Amino acid sequence: MCGIFGVCNNNESAKLTYLGLYALQHRGQESAGIISSDGKKFSNKVGNGLVSDVFLKKDFSRLKGFNAVGHVRYSTFGSSSITNAQPFAINFVDGNLAIAHNGNLCNAELLKNKLERDGSIFQTSTDTEVILHLVAKSKKKTIEEKIIDALLHVKGAYSLLFLSGKKLIAVRDPYGFRPLCIGKLKNSYIVSSESCAFDLVGAKYVRDVEPGEIVSISDDELKSRRFSKNGKNAFCIFEFIYFARPDSLVFGKSVYTIRKNLGKELAKESQPNADNVISVPDSANVAAVGFSTESKIPYEIGFIRNHYIGRTFIEPKQEIRNFGAKIKYNPVCETLKEKKIVLVDDSVVRGTTSRKLIKMLRNAGVKKIHHRISSPPIKHPCFYGIDTPKMSELIASRKSVKEIKEFFGVDTLHYLSLDGLIKATGMEKDNFCLACFTGEYPIKKADNCR
Ligand code: 5GP
Ligand code: SF4
Ligand code: MG
Repeated sequence: MCGIFGVCNNNESAKLTYLGLYALQHRGQESAGIISSDGKKFSNKVGNGLVSDVFLKKDFSRLKGFNAVGHVRYSTFGSSSITNAQPFAINFVDGNLAIAHNGNLCNAELLKNKLERDGSIFQTSTDTEVILHLVAKSKKKTIEEKIIDALLHVKGAYSLLFLSGKKLIAVRDPYGFRPLCIGKLKNSYIVSSESCAFDLVGAKYVRDVEPGEIVSISDDELKSRRFSKNGKNAFCIFEFIYFARPDSLVFGKSVYTIRKNLGKELAKESQPNADNVISVPDSANVAAVGFSTESKIPYEIGFIRNHYIGRTFIEPKQEIRNFGAKIKYNPVCETLKEKKIVLVDDSVVRGTTSRKLIKMLRNAGVKKIHHRISSPPIKHPCFYGIDTPKMSELIASRKSVKEIKEFFGVDTLHYLSLDGLIKATGMEKDNFCLACFTGEYPIKKADNCR
């Protein structure tokens, strides 16, 4: 999961990109970077850490030009070292070319080996660099044709932004795994992973980049071309469940509305007798509101989340039980003591968070815990840009729901059904990738490699 943001035709392109990345920070906290362009020369600043840590005020007098692309990174392929931080740029016969990528290429290793045998020298260990080498090798005439030519070799999930000459070019893979949308700010075009970044810079959402579409923007002119007719969408349904910010439009739909619907469907499927609904903040807040609305069980704040946790922290030698979870969440005893509660979470991956939080609830004096998850059990790994653990680490691939209930130590446990999940979106099932629940991968299994 990463966030990408680009601006075309604005004399404050780098500053706007900074703000855009700030709004997309939830999509990646490992590194952040901006490349700006005046049509000829690139300027860049890339570093490890949060957007607010990487960029200093003085950087913006250097980040000149009318166009810019930015990236926040959450690594899925390649190590998290600084050489892998994006955006990247190369200089080849056609001049400078910069790239920012959200997604994961399934056949990157294969392509990289082939390119290296043909003499290419790679600077990074990322899948993204493969695309730049393929573009540079293409014999086609225009940059758009070269990008299309390169992408014909590539399999997997990619939402991409390129800077080349005076152009900002946006591409979404034929399945549309990851979101990408276009906004307008006066005479400037903006492209972003999520629309919440438009709100911050005062831009208006125009439309999504369509699956298999390449959009080339120069000055205030936008040209579009379909490079692939896949005919099968595979939007990542986890964008609605967990990844995207609820104030965003993703795949043209309000994340808030769908996330609230997830909670409503969950309440319809399994409504216990309880005093209060609480959420695991912040990711399950909206689903919990939906659960409360549908069930008429009042919503309360059960945990306070500390938002100021840095990368490293010091743990005292003397053992503090559940330290990892405690530093992030603290139960509000006043709302929990002697209560029967519904605990809503968005998803369970390894199950370690839930287990610790449940212990904390018991210590706070909760009488009954009805655990409700606003997505089905995750049984299969993701190959399309999400860093899910190996199958053996996914609790639902090893244990039945009954065994998980016992492991968590809750009174009842219910996961949203696949039907309930689809219903909440108001969209047709075949628009989505559901592979982490069903094991049915949109791209042939043989091509799914990490
Ligand atoms: P775990 O079960 O592994 O202890 O934690 C699951 C929780 O971590 C989820 O409730 C979710 O809010 C959060 N989370 C963080 N990263 C991811 C991710 O990549 N995928 C999913 N599904 N949840 C994640
Ligand atoms: Fe999204 Fe799951 Fe598909 Fe990965 S496997 S793209 S997380 S729905
Ligand atoms: Mg969570």
